[in-house]
Amino acid sequence: MAEQPVIVWFRQDLRLSDNPALHAALSSGRPVIPVYVLDDENAHGWAPGGASRWWLHKSLQALGESIAARGGTLVLRKGPADRVIPDLVAETGASGVFWNRLYEPHAIRRDSDLKAALKGDGVTVHSYAGNLAFEPWTVRTGDDGPYRVFSPFMKACLRSEPPGRPLGTPNSLPMAALVPDSEPLDSWNLLPTKPDWAGGLREHWTPGEAGAAARFEAFLDDRLDEYAKARDRMDENTTSRLSPHLHFGEIGVRTIWHTLNHREDAGARSVGKFRAEVIWREFAYHLLYHYPSLPEANWRDAFDAFPWQDDPASYEAWCQGKTGYPLVDAGMQELWISGYMHNRVRMVAASFLIKHLMTHWKRGEEWFWDTLVDADLANNAASWQWVAGSGADAAPYFRIFNPIRQGEQFDPKGVYVRRWLPVLKDLPDKYVHAPWTAPDAVLKAADVRLGENYPHPVVDHAEARKRALAGYRTMKGEDA
Ligand SMILES: Cc1cc2nc3c(=O)[nH]c(=O)nc-3n(C[C@H](O)[C@H](O)[C@H](O)COP(=O)(O)OP(=O)(O)OC[C@H]3O[C@@H](n4cnc5c(N)ncnc54)[C@H](O)[C@@H]3O)c2cc1C
Repeated sequence: MAEQPVIVWFRQDLRLSDNPALHAALSSGRPVIPVYVLDDENAHGWAPGGASRWWLHKSLQALGESIAARGGTLVLRKGPADRVIPDLVAETGASGVFWNRLYEPHAIRRDSDLKAALKGDGVTVHSYAGNLAFEPWTVRTGDDGPYRVFSPFMKACLRSEPPGRPLGTPNSLPMAALVPDSEPLDSWNLLPTKPDWAGGLREHWTPGEAGAAARFEAFLDDRLDEYAKARDRMDENTTSRLSPHLHFGEIGVRTIWHTLNHREDAGARSVGKFRAEVIWREFAYHLLYHYPSLPEANWRDAFDAFPWQDDPASYEAWCQGKTGYPLVDAGMQELWISGYMHNRVRMVAASFLIKHLMTHWKRGEEWFWDTLVDADLANNAASWQWVAGSGADAAPYFRIFNPIRQGEQFDPKGVYVRRWLPVLKDLPDKYVHAPWTAPDAVLKAADVRLGENYPHPVVDHAEARKRALAGYRTMKGEDA
């Protein structure tokens, strides 16, 4: 029975390099059947949003081509994986299924049920750590519990057994004699058509393993040296932009980790800072694993009593980048057009929604989920709760970002704001983060017509701040 094939089930690991499940399947010496299952049914409300679906299409296309170049065929199937995988096993006579582990609560439930069912049918299941450097249950506090604070978590990671060396890329993929039918990728309708809003995504991104490697290389060559100093500057291209590639597993975190070990020349501070950001991702997964309600419920339940407001008009203004605060609006434009937003702008835009507009963080989480190419359940939920103050090791609620000051500090010449809001392009630097403060003559000369081609502020910053702090006191049972 040596020719009995095995299935390699690709999920958030759309790469051939450093892919432990693929590597182990090939090492078994059996023919492999690479499979991807589009399983919206088991996503429990967190099926990929519009921008992620665009990315997924492109990434599967790239993976399919890499597999084909090595003699294999990527088999695509749609439906609940707990039905599709056993069907494929029956169809192909596969003796085993290999996958890299996921950590989202719905995926854990599905995978453990599926594992039990397959084992019951005499099929072996092999799962691996392919997506994280430190799996959530391996990093424990002195009391043998999960971490709730980032710094000790990071120290514990750095004290732990370092992630193993990345595995190589296979040269060939010996396929089974009988290749099961694959559904055409186009039939999944992952790409937008009516209208095709993905022009900006095409312009900014190259999904797939080769695109990820090129991004990482460019970052190491051009930007890592300055990372610690410049990562908060949104006017310059200072960060790696690896987040969607990491989310879809087009680059392995071990590859990043080990490459950094050899880049001390870039300056220990920058290397350390970048590694710390990668560990923030690990921390978000740690939190999601140990607190599976993180995407849905306040981590600190005191926030259940917060007097959120539900104002559809201001929420709409925020989504559309029409709040009248240029840094927030530029961020929301960047998101809408390119599927990405600079980290500091994410913090400012999220803070604005939660604190200036007193809108529940979940509304923002949902919008980001649909529009970000790097939408990631762990990172998104942990970050929204961090900004809200309701999360683990979160910014305190009373820290309310001032969108004008943030702009002046991290985009002093207004380069970022003008890039995404061309209507403000002729406004002098002095007013570009607060157009309503400009004298009429200045506005006129720059052709900025408040209330016509650029909105008035939806709220006054100082009043909004007071209102948010009063809401916080109400939550705490203090007199507002
Ligand atoms: C409200 C809000 C929502 C967010 N939603 C997401 C999301 O859905 N998906 C996502 O990947 N990131 C999210 N982030 C975190 C962060 O903004 C992005 O990871 C980062 O901007 C990606 O850009 P980069 O790859 O150039 O980052 P770099 O600065 O180059 O960092 C390298 C990698 O480290 C990880 N990382 C960096 N910052 C963080 C962070 N704060 N938390 C967790 N991981 C981090 C990412 O994987 C990133 O690719 C969110 C942040 C905020 C404030």
